[in-house]
Amino acid sequence: MSKKTLHAVLFGPPGSGKGTQGQLLADRFDVPQIGAGELFRAEIAEKTVQGKLLKEYVGSGVLVPDELVNAVITNQLKQLDLRKGFVLDGYPRNVEQATHLNRVAKINLAIQLKIPDKEAVRRLTGRVQCVECEQVYHLTDTPPIKPGICALCGGKLKKRNDDTKELIRKRLETFHFMTEPLVTYYRQQGVLLTITGEQAIPYVFEEIIKRIGKLGFKS
Ligand code: ADP
Ligand code: ADP
Ligand code: ZN
Repeated sequence: MSKKTLHAVLFGPPGSGKGTQGQLLADRFDVPQIGAGELFRAEIAEKTVQGKLLKEYVGSGVLVPDELVNAVITNQLKQLDLRKGFVLDGYPRNVEQATHLNRVAKINLAIQLKIPDKEAVRRLTGRVQCVECEQVYHLTDTPPIKPGICALCGGKLKKRNDDTKELIRKRLETFHFMTEPLVTYYRQQGVLLTITGEQAIPYVFEEIIKRIGKLGFKS
């Protein structure tokens, strides 16, 4: 069997490890990674026209309207050679977005990362991120060598503004209501892969690699 190119999306509750596993997967398969939240925060920081619109929503615990999200992501995808593959994390987040995406780029793998809400809360309340390079750490699970300092670039580590108890609860509600229906959508498309995301980061990654290897994706 010839090897398949990764045209993958990752979805799961906030804190399930989409960004973490997306980065590992993209590195292993040598394809670009597009992280929706990361992309939006960059647009906001650069104060672009779209960034000003995104600012209203990102960080408030609600989803950005589909029209705006679809425009930003499509624009980003257009800059890639889609035949060479990609990993998208955090997009799509509802069936409307998934339908839009399928018109722009056909998806051949949708990885669902499953963790209980309680674990999501534990992870997000301990999450810190580098203000310079966006590398993510966890205060107890994957702490940086020097407290408060990024091990990769020396940048300062900060908590995200939306990683508060109240906003985490709101984002989890949004996930169950809006994003979870993607399970049915991608199952019907025949591309769903459900992964238990509760184990430590390298174990979750190995599980993904093992399972997608069996599906004909080879790094
Ligand atoms: P998401 O992109 O789904 O919101 P992240 O990849 O940012 O999730 O991970 C959320 C937090 O949980 C981070 O602090 C990260 O270091 C930590 N984390 C990710 N995967 C695991 C795991 N398998 N076990 C323990 N902690 C994890
Ligand atoms: P997390 O998975 O940890 O909640 P992200 O960094 O992926 O965080 O996203 C941060 C915020 O950006 C979300 O809470 C939401 O407001 C917005 N966002 C990200 N992706 C999407 C999307 N596909 N559709 C709508 N809003 C989005
Ligand atoms: Zn850094």
